[in-house]
Amino acid sequence: MRKIIIVGAGVSGLSIAQLLKNSYEIKIIEKESRPGGLIKCDRVNGHLFHRTGGHVFNTKREDVSNWFWEHFDKDKEFVKTDRYSVVSMPDGRIISYPIENHAYQFSEEMMQRFIGDLILMASSDSVSPANFEEFLCSRFGETLYHDYFQPYNEKIWRRDLKDVPLSWLVGKLPMPTLREIIYNNFNHVEEKQFVHSTFYYPKNEGSQFLANRLAMGLDICYNTNVTSLKRVDNGWMVNGELCDKVIFCGNIKDIPSILEDVDLTSYFAEIEKLEAHGTTSVLCEVDDNPYSWIYLPSRLHQAHRIICTGNFAQSNRGNRILSATIEFTDYISKESILEQLNRIPFGPKYLSCNYAPYTYPIQASGTRDLILSLKKHCEPLGLYFLGRFAEWEYYNMDVAIGASIDLIKCL
Ligand SMILES: Cc1cc2nc3c(=O)[nH]c(=O)nc-3n(C[C@H](O)[C@H](O)[C@H](O)COP(=O)(O)OP(=O)(O)OC[C@H]3O[C@@H](n4cnc5c(N)ncnc54)[C@H](O)[C@@H]3O)c2cc1C
Repeated sequence: MRKIIIVGAGVSGLSIAQLLKNSYEIKIIEKESRPGGLIKCDRVNGHLFHRTGGHVFNTKREDVSNWFWEHFDKDKEFVKTDRYSVVSMPDGRIISYPIENHAYQFSEEMMQRFIGDLILMASSDSVSPANFEEFLCSRFGETLYHDYFQPYNEKIWRRDLKDVPLSWLVGKLPMPTLREIIYNNFNHVEEKQFVHSTFYYPKNEGSQFLANRLAMGLDICYNTNVTSLKRVDNGWMVNGELCDKVIFCGNIKDIPSILEDVDLTSYFAEIEKLEAHGTTSVLCEVDDNPYSWIYLPSRLHQAHRIICTGNFAQSNRGNRILSATIEFTDYISKESILEQLNRIPFGPKYLSCNYAPYTYPIQASGTRDLILSLKKHCEPLGLYFLGRFAEWEYYNMDVAIGASIDLIKCL
């Protein structure tokens, strides 16, 4: 049987391994001591701690859904929930999400400004926005821009929104027309088009449960960092071990230092330039509330959202107290977190924190072409790139699984 070595036991590596295990001899090499990558969870004081994010599952692809539910029992092992997201405004008001559909919940003063914006937008000629700031102002008006979109997005992007080109955001932006905003306000319309408007969540152990299940029956070598990918006659040596093909699900930025005997030097400068953000996730006990995600535009602190993971499954709570992860973009020291927590709503009490340096790939205008060209060069040699940071794509778990399903057709 031909042998494939897969680098990385995140969702991408695990799903492609499951898809291929009956046709190839499969080995996964993973640098950490357990499977999951970004979806790993721990227990802290009885609370489930999503070390990054607060992973929930859904998909719009039928083949992904069919494949996923072959591995899990939807009714016995999962809860299905409607997402209940809100924006917590600096004045203490809670406004339903998306904010532009719920003007009736604004303060009187903010509502008057917003009405003025709508009148102005109705009488203005449409212009093509050149950057994220122009897009948001022209689409939602000055009030929502200054009170919500600007402070919230500046915390996420960590830069002036004039410096965020629209090419970074293609396909990720809400595009309601003025008519839709007005209609949605009359009807208090909740957001339903996003994949996670309704989601599935494991009854026990959160996304670690997904990783552990998908790792079952696979040959995974843990605690082993792949430091050498060497092209040999009709195959590859991975850390000295021979195989026919390699599927790389790690971080493409590592490729220049681990690849041997394949000349990719013309790509290295562009790979070096690829940008990403990291995330500091802080596990806290928080005041009881019914929400899933709470967005935080306040300029009084740097956190941008609270994910109430304790509301996703009862078993996520320690001593029945609600817990949540509070997210900060990039690295925030523990001292700074503790100093900021008393300015964050819902009374967070610190339990633990984790910093992951690579969480959000930034897609510049040439990123897709770069990765495509690299794949075209490497795939005929038997080296494949798959996953969020191997392909520098903004993949959710279901999209990563979809990419695995698509890749097996090329092998
Ligand atoms: C904050 C946040 C929230 C999210 N929320 C959701 C959500 O709610 N729902 C959803 O569907 N998706 C969500 N996602 C996306 C989801 O996390 C990803 O789609 C998914 O985890 C990507 O898996 P991956 O295998 O491609 O990458 P990773 O999870 O990064 O896995 C890569 C693996 O490779 C290993 N590795 C790397 N280099 C080497 C090496 N040299 N040698 C050996 N091993 C190596 C790593 O240790 C890791 O285990 C979220 C992402 C973030 C950042």
